[in-house]
Amino acid sequence: MPEKTLETLFHDGLKDIYYAERQILKALPKMARAAQLPDSKAAFERHRDETEVHVERLQQVFEIFGKRAQGKTCEAIQGIIAEGEEIMEEFKGSPALDAGLISSAQAVEHYEISRYGTLRTWAKQLGLQEAVSLLDQTLQEEGATDKALSKLAVTAANIKAAA
Ligand code: FE
Ligand code: FE
Repeated sequence: MPEKTLETLFHDGLKDIYYAERQILKALPKMARAAQLPDSKAAFERHRDETEVHVERLQQVFEIFGKRAQGKTCEAIQGIIAEGEEIMEEFKGSPALDAGLISSAQAVEHYEISRYGTLRTWAKQLGLQEAVSLLDQTLQEEGATDKALSKLAVTAANIKAAA
């Protein structure tokens, strides 16, 4: 059996987030369609476009690492997305729908932030400077999205939900 190294962890982590990003790319348009507030719709649509770039950046990171871009089923993201779909069904027509959708979207962001943070640190340890920079760009965007969603929740969606 080949030796397991930090490179193995990095490769597995890349496959995990590559799979996750592509699942997110499919989930965000559904969330945008379901959202009631124009600002939530816009936020999900904007992040869908950013997610396309995240997928492309990961393809570049695979290339830098000398591996072909390949996903590996990530049950964690499947579970988070499934919970979001549950909210979509159960809160259809409720004023609390957007608050629920935003909470799901933030769970997704937090998963991504956790993964990208680790991958960036491992890339640095492995001396993959270009990969560090690509992973960091995405990490910054995930963080900005998380903050924007918090703001949207507090200034609009939660108020609508409580009304
Ligand atoms: Fe992403
Ligand atoms: Fe994201």
